[in-house]
Order: sequence, then structure tokens, then C-alpha cells
Amino acid sequence: MQIDILTLFPQMFQGPFSTGIFQRAIDHKLVSVNIHNIRDYTSDKHHTVDDYAYGGGAGMILKPEPIFEAVESIKSDIYREKGGGELPIILLTPQGRLFSQQIALELSRYSHLILICGRYEGVDERIREHLVTDEISIGDYVLSGGELAAMVVVDAVVRLLPGVLGSEASTLDDSHSNGLLEYPQYTRPAVYRGWSVPEVLLSGNHAQIARWRREQAIIRTLERRPELLDKANLNLEERRLVNRLSTSPTLPPSDEIH
Ligand code: SAM
Repeated sequence: MQIDILTLFPQMFQGPFSTGIFQRAIDHKLVSVNIHNIRDYTSDKHHTVDDYAYGGGAGMILKPEPIFEAVESIKSDIYREKGGGELPIILLTPQGRLFSQQIALELSRYSHLILICGRYEGVDERIREHLVTDEISIGDYVLSGGELAAMVVVDAVVRLLPGVLGSEASTLDDSHSNGLLEYPQYTRPAVYRGWSVPEVLLSGNHAQIARWRREQAIIRTLERRPELLDKANLNLEERRLVNRLSTSPTLPPSDEIH
């Protein structure tokens, strides 16, 4: 996958994209990330990227010209090198559709993404209307710029690309991947300060462990994000479990549920 990011602050991307899984994905050529400075696409001698809002009001607005120029230049490079195909042009904005694991999965299926990071009071409306194909928000709050939001989106997408994580299965059980939160995880020692790892996990019985984990994922989701269960893919027995637990005054500890 190739990801092109337009920003006024390219230096912000140095750390996150040169560490851990991400660096490995770049080294293995599973992803390439190009950071473009919007200022490089200006044509006046002051490299102006923003201007006052028509109609007045505090704060500056990112001008349309440099962003159109940048996207069109990147698009024509991509089409020249790799041919046509659908190319999402995503504006990060608190007004966009709310980012989720499903959207990360959807984006991970493209071979290219272009992300535009806004700043100041945002971007000229004509960028929304005539250039971008998608608008994404990472949450109902306002950041000072789209850079952190772009990092969040890119991180969530890249870890879903085939070969990026050691084991494909490790993303399937992740919270939000199958409509449930993930089950509790433990590592050694088996007893720490008197707190023991649940017996079943030490049993070596893989069927029992899988069943316990599935139940735990359901219980955890019920406790923390019950609204997710409406859309989760549960069988009849699991739906009964949810109904039983939802009507009991307190959720029982995990080992009592079988
Ligand atoms: N005035 C704009 C509004 O009310 O919609 C907010 C502008 S914000 C201060 C500056 C930039 O930060 C935005 O253009 C956008 O790129 C980015 N941004 C802020 N909050 C965001 C969020 N929740 N998700 C994605 N991007 C965000």
C-alpha cells in the first residue's frame, strides 16, 4: 500500500512511522508513506497556505490552490506509475464519519490512500466539495490539526495489511474486529502477588480455552460496551447467555459461567 499525507508539519510524522511494526512494514515494502509539505505546492513568493475567512470570524482557513495542486500532482504520479484504480482522498475533519475498525478494514483493501491534514480553522469548503472523496473524524473532539488523526488512521490500517503482524489471527481477536471487545489476556508468572491466572488457561485444553475466551469477550462487552452486542454475531446459546447476564443484578465472575 502507498500512503500519501499532505500536511503543514511533516516533522510530526518522523517518530511514529519509524518505530516497531510500522518500520518493519516499511522495511519489508508492505507499505510506503510519503509525507508532502502543502507549502511546497504554493506559487507565491511567501508560500502562503492560509487566508482570512470570507464573512469574517477568528482564525485562518487553508486555501484551496496548494491542496488541489498537491493532490492532483500526487494522483498523476500514481496513475503514471501504477495505472488507474479507485484512489480515496481523505480529509481528516471532526465533521467526518467516525473512524472505526470497520473503516480501517475497508481502507486496508485499497492500494493507495491520500490523506489531507487540516490546520487552523480548517480547509476551504471547495476542497470538501470538489476534491476529497471521504471525510474521517477520529472522535467527537477537536484537535489542533489533522496530523495526529492521520497517524491514528494510518496505524490502524497498516496493522491490518497482510504480513504486517506476525500472525494473521492476532488481528481477528482484537477488540472491535468481530463486534466484541477482546477477552482478558495473561502472561507468566502464573501467580503474581497471590493473583492467579484463571485455571482454564493453564489446562492445555484448547477447546475449553477458546470457549472461555469467547464467553469472556461477551461478558466484557456486556459490561463495558453493551450497545456493541446488538450487532455482534452471536449464536443462540450466546444470546441466551447475554439475556441471562443482562437480567442478573451483578455479573458473576468468569469461572462461574458455564
Ligand atoms: N473549525 C473546524 C470545525 O469546527 O470543524 C475545526 C478545525 S481543527 C482546529 C483543525 C484541523 O484539525 C481540522 O481541519 C482537521 O484536519 C483536524 N481535526 C480536528 N479534530 C479532528 C478530529 N476529531 N478528527 C479528525 N481531524 C480532526
